[in-house]
Amino acid sequence: MWRLKKLGRPAAILILAVGALAAYLLRGGFRRFEITPYPVPPAAFVDWNDVLAHPRDISLVTFQTGVVHMDACLNLDPVSPKQADCDHVPRDLAVLVHWVHHSHFGDLLIDTGFDDSFAKHPPYGNYTDAMRFFNWVNGVTNRQQPGEDLSAQLARLNVHPKKVFFTHLHPDHTGGVPALGPQTEFVFGKAEASFLARAAVANDFSAESKFSSIDFAAAPAMAPLGPSVDLFGDGSFWAISVPGHTDDDIAYLINGTSPVLLTGDASHFAWAFKNGVGPRGWNSAGTARGRVSLEQLRAFAKAYPGVKLVYGHETGRF
Ligand SMILES: [Zn+2]
Repeated sequence: MWRLKKLGRPAAILILAVGALAAYLLRGGFRRFEITPYPVPPAAFVDWNDVLAHPRDISLVTFQTGVVHMDACLNLDPVSPKQADCDHVPRDLAVLVHWVHHSHFGDLLIDTGFDDSFAKHPPYGNYTDAMRFFNWVNGVTNRQQPGEDLSAQLARLNVHPKKVFFTHLHPDHTGGVPALGPQTEFVFGKAEASFLARAAVANDFSAESKFSSIDFAAAPAMAPLGPSVDLFGDGSFWAISVPGHTDDDIAYLINGTSPVLLTGDASHFAWAFKNGVGPRGWNSAGTARGRVSLEQLRAFAKAYPGVKLVYGHETGRF
């Protein structure tokens, strides 16, 4: 009892100090996002054969805004027996942005990559203190060539997107947001903006940012994939629920003359997809869910080999 009393005060001070530090590092998580529901058009298609038989006037350009340099196998299911075959040599993972142009609905982006802070202030750019610490502990660095940032590339393309659809809310996907106008609308899955997600990315958004979310609970499953939303109602652009890596991860299908499936981080790169190794989730339940999402994507790829696959962080030709 005497000892407890003696230890009590320093222990209480230590707990308070650690708590205050954690609250400071995670302060973005306390930020509230005002989110409205994404207006889902009435379903006009019942299966992928029908969708793919009706390509629309929509195009996709993928570009790289920097790289994340790390042991890429750390992103994968940590208990997969194939981890032993994964090349654990650190390498560059592409930080991608996808520009989608629809003949009627105009220009939009999928993810935002990095703004120019990553060239100006390497290796962590505009990351929060918590993310810097997390990167440092895991030996992750980020790089960007001058002129490779989102703003410079959009200026060269003369594109002014008003809307961004996110695959998920991780800072290597939201880091370009400060380069966009304050009236830009941001769309993501309904369950995506959790406390930890906001802690990691809230600093990228301004107080005026407009958010809307897709409710996959109300969307029909489109076998072999899960719940899928026809975002424009004409079969051109689809959001597909692939949770696991995050709570409400999204893959996108762009149904132009050469259809493309963007897996997002439901599969970071080709090796993992081909070998059936799912992404690492925040916890073991997330990782388990990610395996289901990956198998659905693999079943789709097998059933529709004419659809090109673009992985979440694959380098190389696009
Ligand atoms: Zn990522």
